[in-house]
Amino acid sequence: MHPIVIIGSGLAGYNVARELRKLDKETPLVIISADSGSYYSKPMLSSALGTGKTPQSIPMNSAEQMAGQLNGTVRVKTRITALDPSSHAVSIGDETISYSKLVLALGADQIRLPIKGSAANRILTVNDLDDYASFRAALKDKSTIALIGAGLIGSEFANDLTTGGHKVEVIDIAPHPLSRLLPPEGGALLQRKLAELGVVWHLGTSVSALDSDSDKLRIALANSHCFAADIVLSAIGLKPRTALAQAAGLKINRGIAVNRNLETSAPDIYALGDCAEVEGLVLPFVMPIMHAARALAATLAGKPTAVSYPAMPVLVKTPACPTIVSPPADPSAGAWEVTATEDSVKSLFKDKSGKLLGFALNGKATAERATLMQQLPPVLA
Ligand SMILES: Cc1cc2nc3c(=O)[nH]c(=O)nc-3n(C[C@H](O)[C@H](O)[C@H](O)COP(=O)(O)OP(=O)(O)OC[C@H]3O[C@@H](n4cnc5c(N)ncnc54)[C@H](O)[C@@H]3O)c2cc1C
Repeated sequence: MHPIVIIGSGLAGYNVARELRKLDKETPLVIISADSGSYYSKPMLSSALGTGKTPQSIPMNSAEQMAGQLNGTVRVKTRITALDPSSHAVSIGDETISYSKLVLALGADQIRLPIKGSAANRILTVNDLDDYASFRAALKDKSTIALIGAGLIGSEFANDLTTGGHKVEVIDIAPHPLSRLLPPEGGALLQRKLAELGVVWHLGTSVSALDSDSDKLRIALANSHCFAADIVLSAIGLKPRTALAQAAGLKINRGIAVNRNLETSAPDIYALGDCAEVEGLVLPFVMPIMHAARALAATLAGKPTAVSYPAMPVLVKTPACPTIVSPPADPSAGAWEVTATEDSVKSLFKDKSGKLLGFALNGKATAERATLMQQLPPVLA
């Protein structure tokens, strides 16, 4: 009997394996990962300084421990080079592994900006534990960090690095941080609270060039301002990893296209997590992974199960300004109603009939999260 093969040892790959083992303890299981295969919570990477974590203390289990817990094989530092849906096999160079069912849990890549200048290739990104270890090594004895991108991950790093004693200057083309998730009033409060912590903002502009300048990096902005930094970290968004699936002829939209049963366009191949687009939705967050992992495990164990998503608010890890967002599925379906005080912004996104479709809460307003959540429609009923 060929094994169930899972490609990827992130939260998606390991959680589907864990859920499967609750239902089926015996079917042979092989997890193949390009990285070290240690089990860790990726969201910790952007709050590790503030919570006293190091790259060494973040992993909860090694690949060996996971293999034992899962009664399976975990192959690490092993990159799948091709999929062959017609023969139910994957390739690692010249080696071929057959599968009964295949799960793609490949994650996403950080988007890289085409920036000019002699130091453009020195821009760092953090999208996994190895990246984070390199970043922490680079941070040693360095003071100023230029951070490109004031989205969720960028804002969290700005808070964490500043708390950790670094000087942080953030650049974003948008007029306020978290511009895709917060209305201007909420963004303004987050901006002010992080500025009070020490963050320097360069908003409404972009990086036009990055050059070496003795032992520093020189950042030139489109608004003609220039400043020096020791490190440049980019966090401008993620792009689902689709190349393997695309080369094998699977249907791709923004991510690897799957239906509610997490089935791709090829028989016995499934996808979930940051690489997948579930019924048109690309949701690169932990909660959708947990729901998808439970549904897919049931399907793999022989009971075809559709995934449902309830409302899934995301807690933004910016302790300087506690923030919780549950963005509307369709930003054109209504408008924000905002109530702001000195230290709190409550933003409710409602349709014409007054129905709540999303919310964004900053500061003291975050206390209303549980009540508001009950009023939200499910993301995927
Ligand atoms: C800094 C940071 C902070 C975050 N904070 C939050 C948060 O607060 N809340 C929240 O909900 N979400 C947060 N997220 C998002 C969340 O962490 C991700 O949605 C989630 O971890 C993605 O898991 P995944 O398993 O889909 O992908 P990944 O963790 O990227 O795993 C992909 C796996 O696939 C493997 N792989 C890829 N290609 C191949 C190949 N060809 N062969 C073999 N293996 C391969 C990789 O090695 C890896 O093991 C954060 C993300 C980041 C980067």
